[in-house]
Amino acid sequence: MSSDLPQRTSAGVDRAGSPPSIEPDSPSLTIRNATLRHGEGLHQIRIDSGRVTGIVPEGDTQLDGETEIDAECGLVTEAFVNGHLHLCKVYTLDQLGDAALKDYHAAGMGGAMSAIEAAAAIKKDYRAERVAENAARAVERAIVYGTGYIRAFADTDTSARLEGVKGVMAVRDRYRDSIRIDVVAFPQDGLIRDPGAEQLVREALKLGADVVGGIPWIEFTDADAHAHVERMCELAREYDRDISMLVDDAGDAGLRTLELLATKVAEIGWQGRVTAQHARAMQLYAEPYFRKLCALLQRAGIGVVSDPHTGPLHARVRDLLAAGIPVALGQDDVFDAYYPFGRNNMLEVAFLAAHLLWMTSPQEIETLYDMITVHAARVVGLDEYGLRPGGRADLVIHPVSRVDHALAEHAPPRVVLHGGRVVARDGSLVLAEAQR
Ligand SMILES: [Zn+2]
Repeated sequence: MSSDLPQRTSAGVDRAGSPPSIEPDSPSLTIRNATLRHGEGLHQIRIDSGRVTGIVPEGDTQLDGETEIDAECGLVTEAFVNGHLHLCKVYTLDQLGDAALKDYHAAGMGGAMSAIEAAAAIKKDYRAERVAENAARAVERAIVYGTGYIRAFADTDTSARLEGVKGVMAVRDRYRDSIRIDVVAFPQDGLIRDPGAEQLVREALKLGADVVGGIPWIEFTDADAHAHVERMCELAREYDRDISMLVDDAGDAGLRTLELLATKVAEIGWQGRVTAQHARAMQLYAEPYFRKLCALLQRAGIGVVSDPHTGPLHARVRDLLAAGIPVALGQDDVFDAYYPFGRNNMLEVAFLAAHLLWMTSPQEIETLYDMITVHAARVVGLDEYGLRPGGRADLVIHPVSRVDHALAEHAPPRVVLHGGRVVARDGSLVLAEAQR
């Protein structure tokens, strides 16, 4: 299936605030006795200067690196990609009580907007240092569980001011050698509803936020939703940034903001640089409209990020994949107003999705794994991603040799590599000097 999916033509990878953290003179490394997802028998993988330079069957030529890791027949794959995480909000649930959670998770998602309003209360107390403290905890768990990339949303609005985005950017920079984090300046409470938010998003971009956010469905009128999409897309154009918007995230079949976004993206030529998050209302659409939407997504080169475990409705993942739209999974929330769990473990997210989407056949389990690795990388536009010669050596070595077993156990990988450097082993961080 993956070969049918649209390829991204450009990416935020090197354009925005997070340059690749590859040390040009890092020692060469050979991983021996690796089981690969696609390939018979065991393989050796050679890594030089943070990139994969060779993959050969075990028993052929010896790929002698300066250092070696024996994978012991474990599965070796690309590191995980988390397409969506509200990193400024992690571990805030205890400050809030459960009112927001009740509203967001109520059957039919009719109270989603009330939930967001309730959750906004704590943002007035945001301080960058405190946000960074919580975010660091979540990021360290992500590294240990084998995540190499996070698209991190940071509320940037008149409640959070610039405290959320500053805290998240500090964590992005601190852990740069162990994980790549692209920070989305996200006006969570709307633009028209929250006068001043647009200026704050602009300031966040000037400070180095990587991606322009948006949440047009939260506006009170269709005209305001339209204006929200227009303004954020223009801002992306002005600052040459990718776009990630939360669209149609409530139980209302009348929500149409993904259509607005897809139309605008095609108009400004931003194909391949935009992700749509949530799109939960899609589940309620009539079939003819859903098909039209798929055609619009194709035309706009928009990938969808779904988080089926954090709400009673979710995007039509199987149908999107069948239509050739790339789909990623995201952790979405970690102990916040919208979700009372979360270990920032993408294997766990895929495991939960297997049940919620009923994707349990061997082929579907492979597709789930794609949605936290190669498909997800395509959605967020990681050009250098991939276990292939020339690809970045952002890799995981699992304690098991099969994808279905990895999902079933959702255990931390034995080894996590970022840019060819070991950043975690057996559930523990291996921090670079600068991060201690
Ligand atoms: Zn979300």
